[in-house]
Amino acid sequence: MDIYDHPTFLMACQQFDQVADHLEIPQEDRDRLKYPKRSMVVALPIHKDDGSTQVFTGYRVQHHLTLGPTKGGLRFHPQVSLGEVAALAMWMSWKCALCGLPYGGAKGGITCDPGKLSLTELERLTRRYTQEMIPFIGPQVDVMAPDLGTNQQVMAWMMDTYSVHMGHTVPSIVTGKPVGLGGSLGRREATGRGVGYLVNRATDTIGLDISKATAAIQGFGNVGSITALSLARYGVKIIAVTDAFGGVYNAEGLNLWELEKHVAARKTVAGFPGADALTNEQLLELPCDILVPAALERQITAENAGKIKCRILAEAANGPTTPEADAIIAQRPEIFVIPDVLCNAGGVVVSYFEWVQDLQSFFWGETEVVDKLFRILEAAFTQTVTLSRKQKIPMRVAALSLGIKRVQEAKRTRGLFP
Ligand code: NAD
Repeated sequence: MDIYDHPTFLMACQQFDQVADHLEIPQEDRDRLKYPKRSMVVALPIHKDDGSTQVFTGYRVQHHLTLGPTKGGLRFHPQVSLGEVAALAMWMSWKCALCGLPYGGAKGGITCDPGKLSLTELERLTRRYTQEMIPFIGPQVDVMAPDLGTNQQVMAWMMDTYSVHMGHTVPSIVTGKPVGLGGSLGRREATGRGVGYLVNRATDTIGLDISKATAAIQGFGNVGSITALSLARYGVKIIAVTDAFGGVYNAEGLNLWELEKHVAARKTVAGFPGADALTNEQLLELPCDILVPAALERQITAENAGKIKCRILAEAANGPTTPEADAIIAQRPEIFVIPDVLCNAGGVVVSYFEWVQDLQSFFWGETEVVDKLFRILEAAFTQTVTLSRKQKIPMRVAALSLGIKRVQEAKRTRGLFP
């Protein structure tokens, strides 16, 4: 389907085809599993603060509806396109199925640079997008959450816009809301906390002493910064961090609490006192025990996959490693990969908890949230490692096999209507 033509969608399809070959999925089932069920493209005119009007483009892709409502983040970024959103929606499907959640995958986005919009412009854009999506979303239809460039405030505006339209408050329309509006305790921290938990399990698996390990993290937003704190609690020394504007390195370890303050004031890690400057390219090739891409897709490629020097590659971002890089890493058994659909699943797992709490209007304590999160991640990790070892297949193929097979079986059991 040419409308999804984009390197990231091609990459998601290549991964799917590899797993479909491994699972011997019949050709006639493949297109049905691969291509999105619904895709929406909307024009979003808003008044700018200077009185002018600007039209933005927004997208929402709902990948499959077989297991329940669709679920997935909303991204604000200049490079958002239909193909990128479709790839991210497909990965969400396999991730939800891997974790046993009753959802299909979805993803949305607006092509914009949120850093160049004022708060009031951002609010108008978010509300306009929500309004345009009202015919296609709902707590039992499609539920959004934060992703790159969006946060709790954006979710609060979406919830308010949808609720005003319905005439009553509907907290379950989005997850990742502020706790005071029906958000879940532990949702903001969930993705990074899950990355920390899984890295700890990976160190057990390969026999690495986590308390002596070092880590380098690309991206210091929601996921990257919480991953850093979570790893530090296990005793890991965070030696390097980068973001869209630069990076910092200190072999003795960065003081994360001071770094948080610096980022709050400067909106970037760059220029943090007491550390050397570092580029994204340098970070990815830095000798360290744990490498965490936590920013964008396609960062580890055929060019640099042979040069990464870590023991654990923890894919906190979606799609950070290309299939060409995967082939190179497969020849390097010293690297243990925690693939994205497993590594960053903590976010959607606690989003699921938030949706359940909102539907029941009955809220859980943080200990209960974290305990239930770790149980689901533990099951997904154990199943993936077991399959990978039993069938001698890469961790990514194992994780995707578990997810894709569950969706395939659900589609087969439900049958094709009419
Ligand atoms: P965010 O907007 O909070 O942070 C993104 C970070 O990446 C920022 O520090 C930004 O400066 C940095 N960045 C952007 N472009 C970069 C570049 N070219 N090079 C280096 N750094 C760059 O976003 P987030 O929510 O932390 O999401 C990060 C990744 O995690 C994305 O791939 C997202 O899809 C994935 N993810 C997020 C969640 C979630 O709960 N937020 C859940 C699962 C997966």
